[in-house]
Amino acid sequence: MALPAQRRSVNGPDDTEPPSNDPTISCRRCGREWDLGEELDAVGNQAFEQFALDHRRHTGHFPDGVATWRVECRHCPETVERIEEGGAKRWAHTHVRHTNHAVTIHGTDGTERVIEP
Ligand SMILES: [Zn+2]
Ligand SMILES: [Zn+2]
Repeated sequence: MALPAQRRSVNGPDDTEPPSNDPTISCRRCGREWDLGEELDAVGNQAFEQFALDHRRHTGHFPDGVATWRVECRHCPETVERIEEGGAKRWAHTHVRHTNHAVTIHGTDGTERVIEP
């Protein structure tokens, strides 16, 4: 006598969802992917920022999913990009204080803010 096939639910995580703490970073323009697992263990989230900045320094573009805060001086050709809002604002305020120049901060969400001396 044949037993009906048993439908056993597996007591394991559903692996249809992507892992949330993916230590990889990819770049569509380069068609490459890097595993930052070791760097993440060593320096934490800074690893992503460091990698992104290094990638830009060497290739001229940022990897996928990296957005930067851009600070642009309205009086001289100084422009900086920072992945963290805090870093961008620090640079902006320092530049304003030392040069008396107004600067524009372009946020990752498309917002613009002018800081006057
Ligand atoms: Zn690239
Ligand atoms: Zn300036």
